[in-house]
Amino acid sequence: MIISLRETADRLMAANSLILTAHVNPDGDAIGSCLGLKYILETLGKKVQVIIDDDLPKFLSIMPGIDQIQKPEADNYEADYLVILDACLDRVGTLPLKCKAPILNIDHHGTNDNLANYLYLDADSAATAEIIYRLAKAIGVKFDRDSATAVYIGLATDSGYFKYSNTTPQTMRAAAELLETGIKPETISEAIETKDYTVVKGMGTALQTLELFADGKIAGIFLDYELTSTLETTEGFIDLIRVIDGVDVSVVLKVVEPEVCRVSMRSKQTDVSKLALRLGGGGHKRAAGCTIKKPFAEAKQYLIDEIIKSLGV
Ligand code: 5GP
Ligand code: MN
Repeated sequence: MIISLRETADRLMAANSLILTAHVNPDGDAIGSCLGLKYILETLGKKVQVIIDDDLPKFLSIMPGIDQIQKPEADNYEADYLVILDACLDRVGTLPLKCKAPILNIDHHGTNDNLANYLYLDADSAATAEIIYRLAKAIGVKFDRDSATAVYIGLATDSGYFKYSNTTPQTMRAAAELLETGIKPETISEAIETKDYTVVKGMGTALQTLELFADGKIAGIFLDYELTSTLETTEGFIDLIRVIDGVDVSVVLKVVEPEVCRVSMRSKQTDVSKLALRLGGGGHKRAAGCTIKKPFAEAKQYLIDEIIKSLGV
């Protein structure tokens, strides 16, 4: 059931215990939204646990409170709500099987499947963290420096540091107000963007696979299982190729298990969320992803064919 921001705030305020979660392969927005909402709810005296069914990325270790996030190790979790942030049900791993509480879903992905008991969806928000900021306003909680850092990281990482098309005056106003707490954008961006020498060398290796298709409208990096296994992370790799002159759709395809390929897509014109949805994934018009369960060469050809079909749509 679709609910308003006000009803979302009212339901959260009426609850006593809540479990917060977000998507697997969690990013700055997923984790920032969880920690921001945790702070709001704890300020209101609620019992809150953040549980994410995946490893947390090293580049987000600057996020205050990230060490309090747990994995779903128990068989049964009790709460008034299971709050799913920055994703819909199909991307949060095993937790919904272990926690039978009603699901309250807060998200900004237009491709959300609307299967939660209660869904607040705002596809015009640059980040789920932007919704968390508005929730804090609606509830009347002011962020401290640590929680402001978490929410700011969500805003900054999902908007490409306020430069992607999802950045609005509201995004900037939210960021400005968070900065009023005294947090420093350069300290945050430096910590997040700092990479190990081996990661930068890995970028060079990955770039060796760069190819263009469709008269230069598609650019792709294709990492087979062997190459993927040598890389610590592929975070940020897509940003190296989305800047190529004339490229509309850019992709990074990597084999994470034999016959399981993860795909990241970015675009300037084509709506890649529609394409990702068709391939069983989802996302936003300009940034989306999916998993293709085929061997490497087959997955690569299939992906390129599908992108060519959707170019300009
Ligand atoms: P990224 O390429 O950064 O992993 O993801 C880009 C955007 O697409 C993010 O908003 C992310 O949440 C979404 N996304 C990536 N992969 C999937 C997927 O498999 N399913 C869905 N529903 N969304 C995805
Ligand atoms: Mn997000």
